[in-house]
Amino acid sequence: MSLLLCAQVDNLGQWQSELATAFPGETIQVWPEVPDPAAVRIALVAKPPAGALASLPNLELICSLWAGVDRLLADPTLPRQIPLTRLIDPQLTASMVESVLLHVLTAHRQVPRYRLQQARAEWTQLDQPGAADRTIGILGFGELGRACAEALLPLGFRVLGWGRSARTHPQVECAHGATGLARVLARADILLCLLPNTNETRGLLDAARLATLPAGATVINVGRGAAIDDAALLAALDAGRIETAILDVFQTEPLPPGHRYWRHERVWVYPHVAAETDARSAARTVADTVRRFRTGARLPERVDSGRGY
Ligand code: NAP
Repeated sequence: MSLLLCAQVDNLGQWQSELATAFPGETIQVWPEVPDPAAVRIALVAKPPAGALASLPNLELICSLWAGVDRLLADPTLPRQIPLTRLIDPQLTASMVESVLLHVLTAHRQVPRYRLQQARAEWTQLDQPGAADRTIGILGFGELGRACAEALLPLGFRVLGWGRSARTHPQVECAHGATGLARVLARADILLCLLPNTNETRGLLDAARLATLPAGATVINVGRGAAIDDAALLAALDAGRIETAILDVFQTEPLPPGHRYWRHERVWVYPHVAAETDARSAARTVADTVRRFRTGARLPERVDSGRGY
């Protein structure tokens, strides 16, 4: 079963060497040098060029080297009948947990307000609620959402989780569906969005839903930019209803230079860096996925292309 690495990334050489280590004794063709397309059974992909996968007649599995697969699924040439897996990787999860702890503690300890005070040379000690007085609402209670919850709970925060289907967690109040979302939004002092980009999540955080957050809430988005109605978020920030937005992902990336987010004093912009794929760890993870595929085992990382994640 021949492997193909099909990735438009800056560190292609590093991927080649990490994959060579993770798949000892196997030949890995590297796009665009594919002398024998008919031999390719498994494609390991990151931002593959449109049409590349459709040109492989005997493809049996596509493994995304990234966690988000929205870009792949948006390609009309993607052969949808071929099983597709996404990356569920311990190093990527650890990296997301670090980012989320950073952003939640930034909001909790009112770092944005102290930054603004410093710009005015203002010495004011703000009230400091304890972690137990803050509720974190996590939209998207999947691999990453759960890991973030489990890092926040020991600090004392109350955590609510919302997903598409009913889930349970011993220490997290879990919700789903429209009424569940309303319950989470109404209580989330800090709203953490970790939703994939799908037809159902696009524009989910619109003006009406943002208006139901507690006054002074912080919105953190490390999922996908499309979940937020930008104009509605900016209006809520301007009105002072939302205190701060910490954004890692955007509708258009890179964020265009003229976008209001860049210059809004209560918006913190990060250039999609919450959790990058680590090639060494991901190569080992994807090798394990391929090994299980070859033995016919179940693949929990398999994407449901109809659902969009
Ligand atoms: P995941 O395990 O598939 O979890 C997705 C969660 O979203 C699940 O809880 C799912 O509900 C929920 N969901 C999906 N559609 C929904 C809907 N219509 N309504 C309510 N809930 C919905 O994915 P993950 O590994 O946690 O990753 C989440 C996202 O993070 C990725 O899709 C990617 O876009 C983003 N990400 C960003 C970065 C970054 O650097 N900023 C890095 C990696 C990933 P169920 O539990 O019911 O399935």
